[in-house]
Amino acid sequence: MEELLQQINAHRKEIEELQISNSHQLEEFRIKYLGSKGIVKNLFGEMKAVPVEKKKEFGQVLNDFKQFTETKYQTAKELTNGEHSVVNGQPSMADDIDLSLPGDSIPVGTRHPINLVRKRIIDIFHRLGFSVEDGPEIDDDWHNFTALNMPENHPARDMQDTFYINQNPDWLLRTHTSNVQIREMEKGHLPIRIICPGRVYRNETISARAHCFFHQVEGLYIDEHVSFADLKQTLYFFVQELFGKEVKIRFRPSYFPFTEPSAEMDISCLICNGEGCRVCKHTGWVEILGCGMVHPKVLQNCKIDPNKYTGFAFGMGIERIAMLLFQINDLRLFSENDVRFLRQFTSAL
Ligand SMILES: [Zn+2]
Repeated sequence: MEELLQQINAHRKEIEELQISNSHQLEEFRIKYLGSKGIVKNLFGEMKAVPVEKKKEFGQVLNDFKQFTETKYQTAKELTNGEHSVVNGQPSMADDIDLSLPGDSIPVGTRHPINLVRKRIIDIFHRLGFSVEDGPEIDDDWHNFTALNMPENHPARDMQDTFYINQNPDWLLRTHTSNVQIREMEKGHLPIRIICPGRVYRNETISARAHCFFHQVEGLYIDEHVSFADLKQTLYFFVQELFGKEVKIRFRPSYFPFTEPSAEMDISCLICNGEGCRVCKHTGWVEILGCGMVHPKVLQNCKIDPNKYTGFAFGMGIERIAMLLFQINDLRLFSENDVRFLRQFTSAL
């Protein structure tokens, strides 16, 4: 007990003489005396060794010492806090701050791979004179289906595929960006040469190859004497710019209600150079977009004379192009916001 009292006195003397002039010293003081393994805590731990009849007296001494230490800490804290504090008549311009040290780096974000590819597609079509048009993601039945020559019983109109708005069944989340094309044609300013990038929605089960939302870029060119040859040349230029000069293309006949004739366009597989691999399902070809000549009925729906004007349209999924370009095998990665995935595109494109 006597020994403990002597210790406390010695500490008290040491604290009295101690000069705390910066936050570093303050923190050292706090850890040494008031920390979870500090001297005050240790002394309280000694309490159990003190005889019962002396416990009260010792407890008082100890509490006094604790208060004394805390007061010293608080006073020193106020004095060292801020540039304007003064210790012993001297400004205590915190001498532990080294202004020459480099600052903490701020992590810089990267462009999302979908945005990177979207930008590249837009840049290529810009050079061909296409301008970018935007439109609503919630639209009415006319702009998404009817004007595009999709009869009432067309499978694409099935409730399974389309998200309808409960309040008004005439409204829906667009299933493609073709609604922008219709809106542009309705304006009646010809010729039209636009691309419409944007988000679209379909009621699909989410998997590695499908999602309930994805991104498209569609294009539309309407003028006098536009032919399938123009379509072919435009798209050939596009894929060569995007994938490289050595890429080959092929067209397969297809069906869309809004184009006639319609085609799917494939490019030669970039992974195996056409020799056959898992990505191209051993065919050497990869499908990248759908296209065709705008159906005369669609032109008529938009008050454009099909005897005077012709045009072509095409549409592609940005995710699909990004998956081919970056060899990504799961569509879900694009919307999971996993920085380990996104960080890989820091220097892409
Ligand atoms: Zn292949």
